[in-house]
Amino acid sequence: METNIITMFITLVATSGVFTLFLCLYAYVKRKEIPGARTFIWYTASMAIYIFAVAFEWTSDTVEEIMRWTVLEYLGIAFAPPLGLLLVLQYIGKSVPRKVAALMFVVPAVTFLSVATNEWHHLFYKSIFLRENTPSPLADVEIGEMYIVHGAYTFGCMLASVVLLVRQWFRTNRAFRLQLATLTIGQFLPMVGAFLYLMGVTPYGMDPVPMVLCLTSGMYIWAMVSSRVLTIVPIAKERLFESLREGVIVLDATERIVDFNAAVARMMPGLTASSVGTFLRDEWPRLTGSPLPVGGTGDGMQEVMVWTVKGEDVSYQVRSSLVRDRTGETIGRLLMLIDVTEQKRLQDKLTQMAYFDGLTKLLNRARFVQRSRELLSSAQRFGLPVSFVLFDIDSFKRINDTYGHDVGDQAIVHVVSIAKRLLPPDALFARYGGEEFALALPSATGLEAVELAERVRAAFEAEPLRAGGETILVTSSFGAAEARGSDDTLESLLRDADAALYAAKRAGRNRVRAFEPTT
Ligand code: GH3
Ligand code: MG
Ligand code: MG
Repeated sequence: METNIITMFITLVATSGVFTLFLCLYAYVKRKEIPGARTFIWYTASMAIYIFAVAFEWTSDTVEEIMRWTVLEYLGIAFAPPLGLLLVLQYIGKSVPRKVAALMFVVPAVTFLSVATNEWHHLFYKSIFLRENTPSPLADVEIGEMYIVHGAYTFGCMLASVVLLVRQWFRTNRAFRLQLATLTIGQFLPMVGAFLYLMGVTPYGMDPVPMVLCLTSGMYIWAMVSSRVLTIVPIAKERLFESLREGVIVLDATERIVDFNAAVARMMPGLTASSVGTFLRDEWPRLTGSPLPVGGTGDGMQEVMVWTVKGEDVSYQVRSSLVRDRTGETIGRLLMLIDVTEQKRLQDKLTQMAYFDGLTKLLNRARFVQRSRELLSSAQRFGLPVSFVLFDIDSFKRINDTYGHDVGDQAIVHVVSIAKRLLPPDALFARYGGEEFALALPSATGLEAVELAERVRAAFEAEPLRAGGETILVTSSFGAAEARGSDDTLESLLRDADAALYAAKRAGRNRVRAFEPTT
């Protein structure tokens, strides 16, 4: 029964060793994705040495054999605490000068040497002997001065690590707390184990630390595999990060969300701590209502996207840039979100002013010419008909003179609203001049254009303007021209339509004329 306990302990310790070794190898393989991997590799390697040596110590039968494994144990356990502390310092973003880091290993080196040479000076262990009444041989020791130095140094390092991590806890946003908790427990558990051991409350005075390290290692593995620990962004930079007005999302090399700042949390209310560790591609549609833009994984992507925040449409410029390490290897990506709603509104307004007429909201002349040119060339390419119509309000000066300029304006708006109702949806409709308008009719023959113009003319005649208690007849004259071949240019077609319009005016106004090449 009691032998079983020891066998169980040895099994646990060996398992713990395998875990730790795995962790060490994992960190080595992934060293490019894990900043600070070097410290972590050394840390886990020293643990692994210690743990395996303990397992062998417990299977030894003589004091000499036990002492040999003990020396190996100290090659690991003397160095692990300062390595752990360095790891924590690195994680919270405090840089340690090389010289200071080197000094941290003075006590471990002295410890190791004094264990290795103990038989000559007995400064570490005053004596080592086999315990009585144990199911299999286990050593007991009488500790020396160096042992106390080592013990104090080990506790000091562990305590410092835990204090630093707990302090960091209060400064960290929630997305990071799970990682911090993992690290803190990882540092705290062995400390508790070592304490119990020193109090002499463990069975047969066996050291529980190697077994506790099994739990610790398991937690680290989980944390690293779920990519929530030791990834990009040291926490010291977090304040700056949090105070940015621009939203920032940090992705790791596999495009998983590693971190995001407070600004982006306001821009994307759906983004919460639980998004950390998920793939951006999967989260994006839920957050914005549209898929991640093509090229969304590349460098220098820059796109304006619109989504709804608190019931309002907001425009964001989304920029992407790759994060590289010193060797130029890509280790992640930053997505930057900038609220450009105001700029977009201004830009839209400028576009509106540049392309559209203020009074009627129709295309202006310049934009009409531009769009018609495209229309004509594509019609010519595909051999399709296209027609143009110009119309001008009849005796408009008289309306202005009789009823005033305001009523003149109303007359313009009036004819536009009637014409709009009758035009096909693909027609281009522009305010070509003061009270002169232009139509471009894709795939309409000259005859169809004349028929449409006639319907519009008749509607103007049938619907007089009512303004200031007056009923004012507002008629127009129309001229139409059809593109016949590839020789036609927009200029020639508009000139033809104008000639036809002039003919309609001459013939008595309020009528439609098609351009006749012979006239
Ligand atoms: P016609 O039948 O020959 O076209 O006679 P008309 O009086 O309409 O002559 P014309 O087309 O040359 O008249 C253009 C007039 O329209 C000149 C200008 O005072 C007036 N006008 C141009 N733009 C505007 C505008 O935006 N508002 C108002 N109220 N009048 C305008
Ligand atoms: Mg006129
Ligand atoms: Mg005119």
